[in-house]
Amino acid sequence: MDLKSAQFWSRRLAAHCPPGTPAIRLMEVCGTHTHAIARHNLRELLPGNVELISGPGCPVCVSGVLFIEKIRHLLRKGVTVALFGDLLRIPGSSGTLRGEKNLRVVYSPADALRYALENPDRQTVFAAVGFAPTLSAAAALMSEVEEQKCKNFSILSDFKEIMPVLGLLCSNSGIGGFLLPGHVASVTGVKHFSSLPRPGVVSGFEPENILHSIDLLLEALASGRKNYLFNNYPEAVRETGNPLAEKLISHYFRHTAGFWRGLGNIPDSRLELKENFACYDAEKIYDLSGVQAPENPACSCGDVLTGKRSPGECSLFGTVCTPENPAGACMASSEGSCSAAFQWQTGGVK
Ligand code: SF4
Repeated sequence: MDLKSAQFWSRRLAAHCPPGTPAIRLMEVCGTHTHAIARHNLRELLPGNVELISGPGCPVCVSGVLFIEKIRHLLRKGVTVALFGDLLRIPGSSGTLRGEKNLRVVYSPADALRYALENPDRQTVFAAVGFAPTLSAAAALMSEVEEQKCKNFSILSDFKEIMPVLGLLCSNSGIGGFLLPGHVASVTGVKHFSSLPRPGVVSGFEPENILHSIDLLLEALASGRKNYLFNNYPEAVRETGNPLAEKLISHYFRHTAGFWRGLGNIPDSRLELKENFACYDAEKIYDLSGVQAPENPACSCGDVLTGKRSPGECSLFGTVCTPENPAGACMASSEGSCSAAFQWQTGGVK
């Protein structure tokens, strides 16, 4: 973005907040937004009374220590676990998974199934984290798993649904409005967010698009429109979402309670395979119900994920905790807000 555009947006945003306007907290929910905002230093352009905080939109960051320990338990049983590389760097209760045998780094659910099909003598579990886009890819994959009668593939699901968490954040974090995740909305449609009790704008990822979305949020707040919902990413997002993806997701998965780092158990926020697909559910096949792992009390990721403090306000930030040596998930994941604040040297504060 050039200087002229930056000045234009800075002036325009300031016009919504004349002197005496109370403090406003906005939250960006998606890890890709977090990185774009940090990389382009967009917080610098916000009026002084507007705080933009990063929410729980990085799927790796919100998975708890228990999920890591369940993976470790599977690995030590000799099962191959296919997983996204960022999960290798998240500390569990006994260190990270790096160095464990039987790991397979993949870039998509399809990679995990491909590995299982090419290695029929090995049991392969896909350690699944993600929101609607990855979930819809996994749901599409399940029809192939059934078609191929694949007997050596299963899913350990920590797929998450963001809406229950946004509702919770509205009630106890003083969030005035949300920059909503464009990737998720491309699957779910804008209607998915219609019950939000705060203004929300589905945004794309270019800096000017993000600033325009913030502008719309501030305008809605200034005019008292609490239920304002706008699609500012129409090139990828429709009102009603992707019907085929939604059909596949609801065919294979159902909502259940899910654990979110820093937030605890939240009803209806995790997607697990339905009972009639239990033969593909690693949780049931390998009976992981006895695996236990407490969260690390020294880690402040929970406060960062809920907007209670910025990454730079964590005493470990940039010293004990760095991307090379992460102490918490928000630094370990490339989409995490601490990683973004470190990489782009913002500290995550204005
Ligand atoms: Fe967690 Fe490290 Fe961020 Fe502190 S700096 S909140 S320990 S990831």
